[in-house]
Amino acid sequence: MALRGAAILLGVAAPVVAQPTTQQAARPRVHVFATGGTISNLGNDQRRTGSELVDGIAGLRDMATITVEQFRNVPSGSITHDDWRRLAGRIRQLQQGPDAPAGYIITHGTDTMEETAYFLSLTVGGCEPVIVTGAMRQANWAGADGPSNLRNSVRVAIAPASRGRGAMVLMNDEIFAARDVTKSNTTRLSAFTAPDAGVLGLADPDTVVFHRPAPAACQPPRFDLSTIGPFPRVDVVYAHIGADSVSVDAFVNAGAKGVVVAGVGRGGTTPSMGRALRRATERGVTVVVSNRTGSGRVGMWSEPESLDSLPAGRGAMVGATDLNPQKARILLMLALAAHVEARALPELFNAR
Ligand code: GLU
Repeated sequence: MALRGAAILLGVAAPVVAQPTTQQAARPRVHVFATGGTISNLGNDQRRTGSELVDGIAGLRDMATITVEQFRNVPSGSITHDDWRRLAGRIRQLQQGPDAPAGYIITHGTDTMEETAYFLSLTVGGCEPVIVTGAMRQANWAGADGPSNLRNSVRVAIAPASRGRGAMVLMNDEIFAARDVTKSNTTRLSAFTAPDAGVLGLADPDTVVFHRPAPAACQPPRFDLSTIGPFPRVDVVYAHIGADSVSVDAFVNAGAKGVVVAGVGRGGTTPSMGRALRRATERGVTVVVSNRTGSGRVGMWSEPESLDSLPAGRGAMVGATDLNPQKARILLMLALAAHVEARALPELFNAR
């Protein structure tokens, strides 16, 4: 696993960045990557740009020097693995450049923002917070929440208390750690929750507060993308009464190197699916067992020592701890791409 070292930008095209005016130069700088989502959506295939979102909020440019990069402008289901690599690489590039921003904001569709936030939490590192935000209500709807979420994100991005906390999601005045957060409702303003760990902090009217201390030191990225090759195929299968071997076998035959199970309860499956998963490990596929309940842990299953004695070519089977299936998939994908040894997987999945 690559833990340290300079990250090199991976083939990123020259970005178009709106430059600050001279009056703005003394303020902390926040760099906004606009990617689309409901926060930008006006209906009828019309979308606001990131600059329009920023300029639409009175006083925002008095709070910070804000530079905006139109990264994409799409629903979040259209965000790709390549976007993730480019985004992480671009942040790493800005971190190491002159006039490095105090913090970063990603405006993003809410459906998959927990995935993007978690990916960035594993691949960016550094002291400067990365705030992923969006909106539950379209930009032109009454009571649209995008402007307050974006304004609060700027406040959190420049707050000294945010430093060293990595990637976070800000929605509905609440700040969540990327590992903990999930979208748990389709429409409510309060759609985002952290079922096990709870809210990390609040963007209250008077101040930004955190309920847990920041790490003692800023952390390097857990995975250095500059040293990691292409991501392998990793799929999620869903357990339910009557689930058979078809989905597992199909993914393995399609070339999956990892399979995550959204298991029942503490990670159970049906006998048929269970047999298919064991067959998959015999073909070298790593299986990570998560769960479909929405909260709680799936324990480690295997002691690291027992993973040492895996027969050659056999994939490990480990528990996802408290990672939901979509996040366990990201961690497994990065671990496989970085050639993390099987015996190191339990510690990796446990690490917070
Ligand atoms: N909630 C959708 C998303 O996550 C909204 C799509 C859109 O309006 O762009 O992207």
